[in-house]
Amino acid sequence: MNLIMANRKTLMMLIIMLLLFLSAVSVFAEEIVVLSARDKYLTRIPFNAFTHETGIKIRLVTGKIDELLEILKKAGANSPADMLITVDAGSLWKATQADLFQPINSDILTKNVPSHLRDPNNHWFGLSKRARTIVYSSQRVQPSELSSYEDLAQPKWKNRLCLRTSKKVYNQSLVAMMITKNGVEGAENIIKGWVHNLAEDPYEKDTDVIMAIIHDRCDVGIVNHYYYGRMFKRDPNIPVNLFWASQGEGESGVYVDISGAGVLKYATNKELAVKFLNWLSSEKAQNLFANSNMEYPVNPNVEPNPLVQVWGDFKQNIDNISQSGANRDAAIELMKKAKYQ
Ligand code: FE
Repeated sequence: MNLIMANRKTLMMLIIMLLLFLSAVSVFAEEIVVLSARDKYLTRIPFNAFTHETGIKIRLVTGKIDELLEILKKAGANSPADMLITVDAGSLWKATQADLFQPINSDILTKNVPSHLRDPNNHWFGLSKRARTIVYSSQRVQPSELSSYEDLAQPKWKNRLCLRTSKKVYNQSLVAMMITKNGVEGAENIIKGWVHNLAEDPYEKDTDVIMAIIHDRCDVGIVNHYYYGRMFKRDPNIPVNLFWASQGEGESGVYVDISGAGVLKYATNKELAVKFLNWLSSEKAQNLFANSNMEYPVNPNVEPNPLVQVWGDFKQNIDNISQSGANRDAAIELMKKAKYQ
């Protein structure tokens, strides 16, 4: 890490700590302090709705997840934060390993959040679903040529596949879930096939993958559905389509990650935080939380927004999402062995 980056990180930490301190001395009687790795603009509408409905104020502090985890670990029992929101299950698992959450036994959460999308020990709960699936060129690929994640390792995709880097959490989580399904060796063989089929070196972002397909640099790729959704919303005629991977009988279904939250171990307002978490899982709140990013609600009683319904229903993987954390190290190791950069 160079000096500028180190200074930036220290500065970020100081700013966040200052915000936390200010929140601790706040005069508001009913207030929840929420640390969030989710973009601010993605939580504004549901948070305001909750405050409007209950009168409970939410003090939001956003930051990069690793920085937030570091701050919570350092602050320990002195932390005034009540809740942590992340954009992937692997980070929730990490926070649990670091003993940052407390288990919450709530009938409402048990009812509203499917069991594979929450921690088996109730430390955290999924709030929205993000599908990591296949995108393809509508000009050079027929959907009938596509099937599963595994299929992208076949020779027919040689020099036609684009991927985001293995350094980012979304692909680490994806491969971790693939280990659950295929075992380490099975997953490694698939990843080796992917690497063999790459048209170009892996990219920094999911949107780079979609842009590469638009610009004829490759034909297929794997992205989180909402990155495609944002581009599709801007221009429904983009020459890229979404494909739900691994839908056949006996196949895994689409690997789905979550944005989710847990109540922190040293929460000063546990009761309010639980109330907020319950509310976020409710039928009323679910679309407010998911819609801002074209995600899917976790609550099975809530229909997705018409914007995302256009891509149709799909079968999803139902292995417990905590596996994406438990298998994370093995996934990173395996990708290194497969020379997936
Ligand atoms: Fe994202």
